[in-house]
Amino acid sequence: MSKYTTTSILFLIILFALILQVQYDGITGLVLIIPVLIYLTLLIAGSVLISFNFYFKSLCEIKTDDKIVAITFDDGPHPIITTGLIKVLEKHEVKAAFFCIGNKIAKHRKIIEMIEDKGHLIGNHSFTHHRWFDLFTSNKMLKEITNTSNEIEKVTGKRPSLFRPPYGITNPQLKKAVETSGMISVGWSLRSFDTIHGKEKVMKKLKSRTAPGKIILFHDTNKNIVQIIDEYIIWLKSNGYKIVSLERMFNIQAYENK
Ligand SMILES: [Zn+2]
Repeated sequence: MSKYTTTSILFLIILFALILQVQYDGITGLVLIIPVLIYLTLLIAGSVLISFNFYFKSLCEIKTDDKIVAITFDDGPHPIITTGLIKVLEKHEVKAAFFCIGNKIAKHRKIIEMIEDKGHLIGNHSFTHHRWFDLFTSNKMLKEITNTSNEIEKVTGKRPSLFRPPYGITNPQLKKAVETSGMISVGWSLRSFDTIHGKEKVMKKLKSRTAPGKIILFHDTNKNIVQIIDEYIIWLKSNGYKIVSLERMFNIQAYENK
């Protein structure tokens, strides 16, 4: 049972008990506002915090004492930035995962081929990454997921198993879509905020928050990222960290078996 289902059942029981008290013990009806507010807060927190695993489970981190982390990039492919990242990753002999947006894939087939050739993983990050993706019906979400997997398969010949929700937002519609698609949802446990902050601030955060078993979220959409990744990998290695693939970290397969 998901945390969402448990919370909803508890909420209804508490609400019902309070309604009885208001009805028969004469306490003020205003008391009903408290559980409603708590419930709504939990629904929103569960929606925006993917690592809360509120509506369904996403792989966000692994409990381990081994100094391992996984590096992931969202929102590409980008002809210049993704290419720059691939070169830096190759220089450091590091493998990462790229969660790509479906409607960018046909335009940048060569970049997808390069990601694949260099041994990085390619994941599904919806077709449009629409601003209101979280308000879509589950059928529309499923279509986005399927279309993106089709695009990836057209280029690589492999159908991805890993899906990362756009904006990391989850809800019951997405749960249904992910379950129907049979994909594994992948979140993160350390967000670099590389699209918001400059290099210094991002590096400071990464250095203070890096810990064993974390999945780190970056984006191959901003120019700073190539230099950030170069510095961060040097820092990780000098601090005894190993950068591993999502497949190795969670013992999963990034592509469907044919
Ligand atoms: Zn994204």
